[in-house]
Amino acid sequence: MNPVLVLGGGPAGLSAAAELAALGAPVLLVEKAEYLGGNPKRWHYSLLAPDLTPAEEVMGPLLRRVEDTDLIERRLRSTVTRAEPRDRGFRVELSGPESSGWREVSSVILATGFDHFDSRRKYEYGYGRYPALIDFKEFEGMIHDDRLTRPSDGALPKRIAWLLCVGSRDVQVGNPWCCRMGCAVSIKQAVEVRQKHPEIDAYVYYMDIRTYGLWEDLYWKSMNQYGVKFVRGRIGQITQAEGGKRLVATGEDTLLSRPTEVPFDMIVLASGMEPGTGTKDAAQIFGLHVGPEGFLTPKLSDLNPVDSGRPGIFLAGAATGPKAIPDSVTEGMGAALRAYKYARD
Ligand code: SF4
Repeated sequence: MNPVLVLGGGPAGLSAAAELAALGAPVLLVEKAEYLGGNPKRWHYSLLAPDLTPAEEVMGPLLRRVEDTDLIERRLRSTVTRAEPRDRGFRVELSGPESSGWREVSSVILATGFDHFDSRRKYEYGYGRYPALIDFKEFEGMIHDDRLTRPSDGALPKRIAWLLCVGSRDVQVGNPWCCRMGCAVSIKQAVEVRQKHPEIDAYVYYMDIRTYGLWEDLYWKSMNQYGVKFVRGRIGQITQAEGGKRLVATGEDTLLSRPTEVPFDMIVLASGMEPGTGTKDAAQIFGLHVGPEGFLTPKLSDLNPVDSGRPGIFLAGAATGPKAIPDSVTEGMGAALRAYKYARD
């Protein structure tokens, strides 16, 4: 049996590869970065929402399952540049320092993930210009490494605000969709801060809170147990004050219908999820349909969310839209079973 090509080494791709190996199928795992683990590894995710499980406790076992088997051939810093369908399976061209040239594969799983919205596109906030304005993937690294300091003077910040929906639900930047994870992750970060440093005031600015399903519990706990404060409002602009020591968030409190202007030591932007560059490339190379948002679209998203509609090509994880890690892992398993069946039939 030719290997199953798994494109992408984040949670969905790792899960798919590990599941295929458990079935005894050979796998060719191709990842464009120089490491496996996707965005959780890249941005040093700290604790995962909503249960505050250390990210390592999820990603570590997944990585070990992939690294501890000879059935998975791992190709890092590599991409697929061309693909040709065969009677059964595909011929794909790999490009990378360790391996170039054509390979035969029995089926394909696209787990190409997402990119975070580049907050510089919200010019009015000043991301990239103000050191105390960071986005929540960078904040993950700060709390993961226990280096929560105010950039202006290295002191512990006293007041931190989170702005939700940055680059999401925003037609001006072309992203009308909800990022699905921004509320829960921001609230989780505010809880982590309050757990470690109860003396820091934590504010969350929201349009409405979307902690779906059982995740709602984290929202209530954050208020009742950890004292996180929520302000329904839109922040239209952020400026620097006191020579860069503070940031001032200006906008409207939409519950009280009045303008608001509040100083903070640090502001964290909940930057949304966009289709990854790898997803766009994969769509082109494999001739797949993308929706108006740029994500890959399953043929029947309700009935078979991992089936691309093209024989032998399966989809998993945030390549088809914003998704939490457990959902990506589950889809990776589903795609693995479908790819295995296709390769064996
Ligand atoms: S999940 Fe929350 S932060 Fe993200 S777009 Fe939806 S409402 Fe906004």
